[in-house]
Amino acid sequence: MFEILRTVKFSENIDGKKVNIAVRFTNYTEKVFLFDLDLIKLVNSKGDIPEELKGKAKKVKRYEIFFKKSIHDKIKQGKIITPDYTAFRKFSAKVLSQSIYTILKDVHTKILKDTDLKTVNISVINRYLDGNLACHVYSKSTPQNIEIEMSGSALAGRIYFPWLYSHRADISFLEKTLVHELEHHIEHLRGLYQREEEGQKKISALVDKGSISPVLPVIYERFCNLYTEGIAMFIEKKKSATVLHDSSVNKKLVQSLEKMSLAESKKEADDIYLAEFCPDSETGEYYMGYMMCYFIGLSIAKKNGKDTIKTGKKSSIALTALKDYLAQSQKVLLDQLDEKTYNETYSILSRMNHYTEFLNAYYAACRELGIDCSLMDPAFYKSIIINAKAKKIVALKNIAES
Ligand SMILES: [Zn+2]
Repeated sequence: MFEILRTVKFSENIDGKKVNIAVRFTNYTEKVFLFDLDLIKLVNSKGDIPEELKGKAKKVKRYEIFFKKSIHDKIKQGKIITPDYTAFRKFSAKVLSQSIYTILKDVHTKILKDTDLKTVNISVINRYLDGNLACHVYSKSTPQNIEIEMSGSALAGRIYFPWLYSHRADISFLEKTLVHELEHHIEHLRGLYQREEEGQKKISALVDKGSISPVLPVIYERFCNLYTEGIAMFIEKKKSATVLHDSSVNKKLVQSLEKMSLAESKKEADDIYLAEFCPDSETGEYYMGYMMCYFIGLSIAKKNGKDTIKTGKKSSIALTALKDYLAQSQKVLLDQLDEKTYNETYSILSRMNHYTEFLNAYYAACRELGIDCSLMDPAFYKSIIINAKAKKIVALKNIAES
Protein backbone atom coordinates (compact mmCIF):
# COMPACT_ATOMS: atom_id res chain seq x y z
CA MET A 1 0.00 0.00 0.00
CA PHE A 2 2.76 2.37 1.05
CA GLU A 3 4.65 1.58 -2.15
CA ILE A 4 1.55 2.23 -4.31
CA LEU A 5 0.91 5.58 -2.67
CA ARG A 6 4.47 6.66 -3.28
CA THR A 7 4.43 5.72 -6.98
CA VAL A 8 3.07 8.11 -9.60
CA LYS A 9 2.09 6.43 -12.87
CA PHE A 10 1.52 7.59 -16.42
CA SER A 11 0.64 5.92 -19.66
CA GLU A 12 0.83 7.22 -23.21
CA ASN A 13 0.47 5.86 -26.71
CA ILE A 14 3.32 6.74 -29.05
CA ASP A 15 2.82 5.64 -32.64
CA GLY A 16 0.46 2.90 -31.52
CA LYS A 17 2.77 1.66 -28.76
CA LYS A 18 1.71 2.00 -25.15
CA VAL A 19 4.52 3.11 -22.84
CA ASN A 20 3.97 3.14 -19.07
CA ILE A 21 6.07 5.28 -16.79
CA ALA A 22 6.21 4.73 -13.04
CA VAL A 23 8.00 7.21 -10.82
CA ARG A 24 8.70 5.73 -7.39
CA PHE A 25 9.45 8.01 -4.45
CA THR A 26 9.92 5.35 -1.79
CA ASN A 27 13.64 6.05 -1.65
CA TYR A 28 13.38 9.84 -1.48
CA THR A 29 11.79 10.36 1.88
CA GLU A 30 9.88 13.35 3.14
CA LYS A 31 12.60 13.88 5.73
CA VAL A 32 15.28 14.34 3.05
CA PHE A 33 12.88 16.45 0.99
CA LEU A 34 12.41 18.85 3.92
CA PHE A 35 16.14 18.87 4.61
CA ASP A 36 16.76 19.77 0.95
CA LEU A 37 14.25 22.60 1.18
CA ASP A 38 16.16 24.06 4.14
CA LEU A 39 19.43 23.69 2.25
CA ILE A 40 17.99 25.44 -0.81
CA LYS A 41 16.79 28.30 1.38
CA LEU A 42 20.21 28.58 3.01
CA VAL A 43 22.17 28.44 -0.24
CA ASN A 44 19.87 30.96 -1.90
CA SER A 45 19.57 33.42 0.95
CA LYS A 46 23.37 33.81 0.88
CA GLY A 47 23.32 33.76 4.63
CA ASP A 48 25.89 31.98 6.75
CA ILE A 49 25.70 28.27 6.16
CA PRO A 50 26.11 26.40 9.46
CA GLU A 51 29.44 24.58 9.73
CA GLU A 52 27.83 21.12 9.81
CA LEU A 53 26.06 21.78 6.51
CA LYS A 54 28.95 23.36 4.63
CA GLY A 55 30.28 20.08 3.23
CA LYS A 56 26.88 18.99 2.03
CA ALA A 57 26.04 22.39 0.53
CA LYS A 58 29.32 22.41 -1.39
CA LYS A 59 28.81 18.88 -2.63
CA VAL A 60 25.39 19.48 -4.13
CA LYS A 61 25.65 23.09 -5.20
CA ARG A 62 26.40 22.58 -8.86
CA TYR A 63 24.03 19.84 -9.90
CA GLU A 64 21.31 19.60 -7.36
CA ILE A 65 20.90 22.44 -4.97
CA PHE A 66 22.48 25.66 -6.06
CA PHE A 67 22.23 29.42 -6.09
CA LYS A 68 19.75 30.94 -8.51
CA LYS A 69 19.22 34.67 -8.58
CA SER A 70 15.48 34.39 -9.20
CA ILE A 71 15.09 32.30 -6.01
CA HIS A 72 17.40 34.61 -4.08
CA ASP A 73 15.28 37.65 -5.09
CA LYS A 74 12.05 35.98 -4.01
CA ILE A 75 13.53 35.00 -0.65
CA LYS A 76 14.72 38.58 -0.19
CA GLN A 77 11.23 39.83 -0.99
CA GLY A 78 10.01 37.60 1.84
CA LYS A 79 8.25 34.94 -0.24
CA ILE A 80 7.37 32.03 2.02
CA ILE A 81 7.15 28.52 0.64
CA THR A 82 5.15 25.90 2.45
CA PRO A 83 6.70 22.54 1.63
CA ASP A 84 4.27 19.96 0.31
CA TYR A 85 5.75 16.53 -0.29
CA THR A 86 2.66 15.20 -2.09
CA ALA A 87 2.52 18.17 -4.47
CA PHE A 88 6.27 17.79 -5.09
CA ARG A 89 5.87 14.13 -6.09
CA LYS A 90 2.98 14.86 -8.44
CA PHE A 91 4.68 17.83 -10.08
CA SER A 92 8.14 16.38 -10.54
CA ALA A 93 6.80 12.99 -11.72
CA LYS A 94 4.71 14.76 -14.34
CA VAL A 95 7.63 16.85 -15.58
CA LEU A 96 9.86 13.76 -15.64
CA SER A 97 7.40 11.64 -17.58
CA GLN A 98 6.62 14.41 -20.07
CA SER A 99 10.35 14.80 -20.72
CA ILE A 100 10.75 11.08 -21.29
CA TYR A 101 7.79 10.89 -23.68
CA THR A 102 9.18 13.85 -25.66
CA ILE A 103 12.63 12.24 -25.91
CA LEU A 104 11.17 8.90 -27.03
CA LYS A 105 9.11 10.71 -29.67
CA ASP A 106 11.67 13.23 -30.94
CA VAL A 107 15.25 12.32 -29.97
CA HIS A 108 15.88 8.64 -29.30
CA THR A 109 13.25 7.46 -31.74
CA LYS A 110 15.10 4.21 -32.34
CA ILE A 111 14.22 2.94 -28.86
CA LEU A 112 10.57 2.59 -29.87
CA LYS A 113 11.35 1.64 -33.44
CA ASP A 114 13.76 -1.16 -32.58
CA THR A 115 12.40 -2.52 -29.30
CA ASP A 116 9.09 -3.41 -27.72
CA LEU A 117 9.56 -1.03 -24.82
CA LYS A 118 6.70 -1.26 -22.35
CA THR A 119 7.78 0.45 -19.16
CA VAL A 120 10.14 3.09 -17.83
CA ASN A 121 10.69 2.81 -14.09
CA ILE A 122 12.23 5.76 -12.36
CA SER A 123 13.37 5.37 -8.81
CA VAL A 124 13.84 8.71 -7.06
CA ILE A 125 16.56 8.30 -4.48
CA ASN A 126 17.84 9.96 -1.33
CA ARG A 127 21.47 9.55 -2.15
CA TYR A 128 23.33 12.51 -3.66
CA LEU A 129 24.71 11.40 -6.98
CA ASP A 130 27.94 13.41 -6.94
CA GLY A 131 27.84 15.21 -10.23
CA ASN A 132 25.15 13.09 -11.86
CA LEU A 133 21.47 13.84 -11.67
CA ALA A 134 20.47 10.46 -12.94
CA CYS A 135 21.83 7.02 -13.64
CA HIS A 136 20.74 4.36 -16.13
CA VAL A 137 20.66 1.05 -14.26
CA TYR A 138 21.77 -1.27 -17.03
CA SER A 139 21.78 -4.40 -14.86
CA LYS A 140 17.99 -4.09 -14.51
CA SER A 141 17.18 -2.71 -17.97
CA THR A 142 15.91 -4.87 -20.81
CA PRO A 143 14.46 -4.09 -24.27
CA GLN A 144 11.02 -4.03 -22.60
CA ASN A 145 11.95 -2.09 -19.50
CA ILE A 146 14.17 0.89 -18.75
CA GLU A 147 15.35 1.46 -15.18
CA ILE A 148 16.64 4.87 -14.18
CA GLU A 149 17.67 6.24 -10.80
CA MET A 150 17.10 9.92 -10.29
CA SER A 151 18.37 12.17 -7.54
CA GLY A 152 15.39 13.44 -5.52
CA SER A 153 17.46 16.44 -4.45
CA ALA A 154 17.99 17.32 -8.12
CA LEU A 155 14.25 17.17 -8.76
CA ALA A 156 13.70 19.39 -5.75
CA GLY A 157 16.59 21.78 -6.49
CA ARG A 158 16.29 22.01 -10.28
CA ILE A 159 12.60 21.54 -10.87
CA TYR A 160 10.23 21.90 -7.94
CA PHE A 161 11.62 24.71 -5.80
CA PRO A 162 12.59 27.00 -8.73
CA TRP A 163 9.03 26.46 -9.98
CA LEU A 164 7.50 27.35 -6.62
CA TYR A 165 9.69 30.39 -6.12
CA SER A 166 9.86 31.82 -9.61
CA HIS A 167 7.95 29.60 -12.05
CA ARG A 168 11.21 28.71 -13.75
CA ALA A 169 11.91 24.99 -13.57
CA ASP A 170 15.12 23.88 -15.26
CA ILE A 171 13.39 21.64 -17.79
CA SER A 172 16.14 21.82 -20.41
CA PHE A 173 18.71 20.59 -17.88
CA LEU A 174 16.42 17.69 -16.98
CA GLU A 175 15.88 16.84 -20.65
CA LYS A 176 19.61 16.89 -21.39
CA THR A 177 20.17 14.56 -18.44
CA LEU A 178 17.50 12.13 -19.61
CA VAL A 179 18.73 12.24 -23.23
CA HIS A 180 22.14 11.27 -21.83
CA GLU A 181 20.77 8.38 -19.74
CA LEU A 182 18.58 7.04 -22.55
CA GLU A 183 21.65 7.05 -24.81
CA HIS A 184 23.21 4.70 -22.25
CA HIS A 185 20.12 2.49 -22.65
CA ILE A 186 20.78 2.31 -26.41
CA GLU A 187 24.45 1.47 -25.73
CA HIS A 188 23.27 -1.22 -23.32
CA LEU A 189 20.97 -2.72 -25.97
CA ARG A 190 23.92 -2.70 -28.37
CA GLY A 191 25.77 -4.93 -25.92
CA LEU A 192 28.52 -2.45 -25.11
CA TYR A 193 28.37 -2.89 -21.35
CA GLN A 194 28.24 -6.65 -21.62
CA ARG A 195 31.38 -6.59 -23.76
CA GLU A 196 33.03 -4.23 -21.28
CA GLU A 197 32.20 -6.62 -18.43
CA GLU A 198 33.66 -9.54 -20.38
CA GLY A 199 36.81 -7.50 -21.01
CA GLN A 200 37.03 -6.63 -17.31
CA LYS A 201 36.64 -10.32 -16.36
CA LYS A 202 39.56 -11.29 -18.57
CA ILE A 203 41.70 -8.51 -17.12
CA SER A 204 40.70 -9.43 -13.55
CA ALA A 205 41.72 -13.05 -14.14
CA LEU A 206 45.19 -11.84 -15.15
CA VAL A 207 45.31 -9.47 -12.18
CA ASP A 208 44.41 -12.35 -9.85
CA LYS A 209 47.25 -14.40 -11.30
CA GLY A 210 49.55 -11.49 -10.54
CA SER A 211 50.67 -11.23 -14.14
CA ILE A 212 49.41 -7.68 -14.65
CA SER A 213 48.83 -4.67 -12.47
CA PRO A 214 45.50 -4.08 -10.66
CA VAL A 215 45.67 -0.58 -12.15
CA LEU A 216 44.74 -1.86 -15.62
CA PRO A 217 41.00 -2.37 -14.84
CA VAL A 218 40.80 1.29 -13.78
CA ILE A 219 42.47 2.44 -17.01
CA TYR A 220 40.41 0.05 -19.15
CA GLU A 221 37.21 1.51 -17.69
CA ARG A 222 38.38 5.04 -18.57
CA PHE A 223 38.85 4.08 -22.22
CA CYS A 224 35.48 2.27 -22.39
CA ASN A 225 33.85 5.35 -20.85
CA LEU A 226 35.65 7.66 -23.25
CA TYR A 227 33.50 6.17 -25.96
CA THR A 228 30.20 5.53 -24.11
CA GLU A 229 30.19 8.78 -22.10
CA GLY A 230 31.58 10.65 -25.13
CA ILE A 231 28.57 9.74 -27.29
CA ALA A 232 26.15 10.38 -24.40
CA MET A 233 27.63 13.88 -23.94
CA PHE A 234 27.62 14.41 -27.70
CA ILE A 235 23.88 13.72 -27.97
CA GLU A 236 23.16 15.62 -24.74
CA LYS A 237 24.88 18.76 -26.03
CA LYS A 238 23.28 18.76 -29.48
CA LYS A 239 21.49 22.04 -28.80
CA SER A 240 24.55 23.87 -27.39
CA ALA A 241 25.43 26.72 -29.74
CA THR A 242 29.17 26.56 -29.20
CA VAL A 243 31.91 24.21 -28.03
CA LEU A 244 34.62 25.37 -25.66
CA HIS A 245 38.06 24.00 -26.38
CA ASP A 246 40.28 24.45 -23.34
CA SER A 247 43.85 23.34 -23.96
CA SER A 248 44.78 23.61 -20.27
CA VAL A 249 41.98 21.15 -19.40
CA ASN A 250 43.23 18.81 -22.15
CA LYS A 251 46.73 18.99 -20.74
CA LYS A 252 45.62 18.44 -17.15
CA LEU A 253 43.49 15.43 -18.06
CA VAL A 254 46.24 13.83 -20.13
CA GLN A 255 48.67 14.30 -17.24
CA SER A 256 46.34 12.84 -14.66
CA LEU A 257 45.54 9.88 -16.92
CA GLU A 258 49.25 9.19 -17.08
CA LYS A 259 49.53 9.59 -13.31
CA MET A 260 46.68 7.09 -12.87
CA SER A 261 48.43 4.59 -15.14
CA LEU A 262 51.58 4.89 -13.00
CA ALA A 263 49.75 4.35 -9.69
CA GLU A 264 51.10 1.70 -7.36
CA SER A 265 47.71 0.24 -6.50
CA LYS A 266 44.10 0.18 -7.63
CA LYS A 267 43.17 2.38 -4.69
CA GLU A 268 45.74 5.00 -5.63
CA ALA A 269 44.46 5.00 -9.24
CA ASP A 270 40.84 5.30 -8.05
CA ASP A 271 41.77 8.19 -5.76
CA ILE A 272 43.50 10.07 -8.59
CA TYR A 273 40.45 9.42 -10.74
CA LEU A 274 38.02 10.95 -8.23
CA ALA A 275 40.21 13.79 -7.03
CA GLU A 276 41.78 14.96 -10.29
CA PHE A 277 40.59 13.26 -13.41
CA CYS A 278 36.83 13.14 -13.03
CA PRO A 279 35.44 14.82 -9.90
CA ASP A 280 32.23 15.56 -11.86
CA SER A 281 30.61 14.83 -15.20
CA GLU A 282 31.89 18.04 -16.84
CA THR A 283 35.44 16.74 -16.96
CA GLY A 284 37.40 13.46 -17.22
CA GLU A 285 36.23 10.99 -19.82
CA TYR A 286 33.00 13.00 -20.30
CA TYR A 287 34.88 16.06 -21.55
CA MET A 288 37.56 14.12 -23.42
CA GLY A 289 35.06 11.78 -25.09
CA TYR A 290 32.81 14.67 -26.06
CA MET A 291 35.65 16.68 -27.61
CA MET A 292 36.78 13.61 -29.55
CA CYS A 293 33.23 13.16 -30.92
CA TYR A 294 33.18 16.85 -31.85
CA PHE A 295 36.46 16.69 -33.80
CA ILE A 296 35.29 13.50 -35.54
CA GLY A 297 32.17 15.46 -36.54
CA LEU A 298 34.22 18.44 -37.72
CA SER A 299 36.34 16.18 -39.91
CA ILE A 300 33.13 14.76 -41.44
CA ALA A 301 31.96 18.33 -42.14
CA LYS A 302 35.32 19.02 -43.84
CA LYS A 303 35.04 15.88 -45.96
CA ASN A 304 31.55 17.04 -46.97
CA GLY A 305 32.98 20.28 -48.32
CA LYS A 306 32.91 22.65 -45.32
CA ASP A 307 36.00 24.84 -45.37
CA THR A 308 35.39 27.44 -42.68
CA ILE A 309 34.15 27.43 -39.09
CA LYS A 310 32.61 30.15 -36.96
CA THR A 311 34.54 30.88 -33.82
CA GLY A 312 31.70 31.98 -31.58
CA LYS A 313 32.29 35.70 -32.20
CA LYS A 314 30.62 36.07 -35.59
CA SER A 315 34.05 35.74 -37.21
CA SER A 316 35.08 32.65 -39.12
CA ILE A 317 38.38 30.93 -39.79
CA ALA A 318 39.43 28.57 -42.55
CA LEU A 319 39.46 24.97 -41.32
CA THR A 320 43.02 24.77 -42.65
CA ALA A 321 43.93 27.37 -39.98
CA LEU A 322 42.34 25.37 -37.14
CA LYS A 323 45.65 24.18 -35.72
CA ASP A 324 46.98 27.75 -35.35
CA TYR A 325 43.66 28.95 -34.00
CA LEU A 326 43.58 26.27 -31.29
CA ALA A 327 47.12 27.22 -30.31
CA GLN A 328 46.30 30.94 -30.15
CA SER A 329 44.80 30.96 -26.68
CA GLN A 330 44.04 28.57 -23.90
CA LYS A 331 40.27 28.77 -24.30
CA VAL A 332 38.69 29.06 -27.71
CA LEU A 333 35.08 28.84 -28.79
CA LEU A 334 34.04 26.89 -31.85
CA ASP A 335 30.68 26.76 -33.52
CA GLN A 336 28.51 23.70 -32.98
CA LEU A 337 28.18 21.23 -35.88
CA ASP A 338 25.22 21.80 -38.18
CA GLU A 339 22.29 19.41 -37.77
CA LYS A 340 23.04 17.29 -40.86
CA THR A 341 26.67 16.76 -39.80
CA TYR A 342 25.56 16.10 -36.23
CA ASN A 343 23.19 13.35 -37.34
CA GLU A 344 25.76 11.83 -39.69
CA THR A 345 28.40 11.86 -36.95
CA TYR A 346 26.05 10.31 -34.41
CA SER A 347 25.11 7.57 -36.83
CA ILE A 348 28.81 6.78 -37.52
CA LEU A 349 29.66 6.85 -33.80
CA SER A 350 26.72 4.58 -33.00
CA ARG A 351 27.99 1.87 -35.29
CA MET A 352 31.32 1.46 -33.48
CA ASN A 353 31.75 -1.68 -31.41
CA HIS A 354 34.86 -0.97 -29.40
CA TYR A 355 36.61 2.04 -27.93
CA THR A 356 39.68 1.36 -30.11
CA GLU A 357 37.51 2.07 -33.18
CA PHE A 358 36.60 5.36 -31.55
CA LEU A 359 40.24 6.23 -30.85
CA ASN A 360 41.17 5.40 -34.45
CA ALA A 361 38.35 7.61 -35.74
CA TYR A 362 39.69 10.45 -33.56
CA TYR A 363 43.26 10.01 -34.83
CA ALA A 364 41.95 10.03 -38.42
CA ALA A 365 39.87 13.16 -37.69
CA CYS A 366 42.94 14.99 -36.35
CA ARG A 367 44.88 14.03 -39.49
CA GLU A 368 42.02 15.23 -41.69
CA LEU A 369 41.83 18.54 -39.79
CA GLY A 370 45.61 18.93 -39.59
CA ILE A 371 45.52 19.35 -35.79
CA ASP A 372 47.49 17.68 -32.99
CA CYS A 373 45.78 14.74 -31.28
CA SER A 374 46.03 16.66 -28.01
CA LEU A 375 43.51 14.47 -26.16
CA MET A 376 45.04 11.15 -27.13
CA ASP A 377 47.55 10.02 -29.68
CA PRO A 378 48.59 6.47 -30.59
CA ALA A 379 51.96 6.67 -28.83
CA PHE A 380 50.42 8.10 -25.65
CA TYR A 381 47.67 5.45 -25.65
CA LYS A 382 50.29 2.73 -25.99
CA SER A 383 52.39 4.15 -23.15
CA ILE A 384 49.34 4.38 -20.84
CA ILE A 385 48.49 0.72 -21.42
CA ILE A 386 52.10 -0.36 -20.95
CA ASN A 387 52.32 1.63 -17.70
CA ALA A 388 49.04 0.25 -16.39
CA LYS A 389 49.97 -3.34 -17.19
CA ALA A 390 53.56 -3.29 -16.06
CA LYS A 391 53.69 -1.25 -12.90
CA LYS A 392 52.89 -4.07 -10.52
CA ILE A 393 55.54 -6.31 -12.04
CA VAL A 394 58.05 -3.53 -11.46
CA ALA A 395 56.70 -2.97 -7.97
CA LEU A 396 56.88 -6.69 -7.11
CA LYS A 397 60.37 -6.89 -8.56
CA ASN A 398 61.42 -3.97 -6.40
CA ILE A 399 59.98 -5.64 -3.30
CA ALA A 400 61.72 -8.91 -4.20
CA GLU A 401 65.04 -7.12 -4.68
CA SER A 402 64.82 -5.01 -1.55
ZN1 LIG B 1 26.78 8.86 -18.58
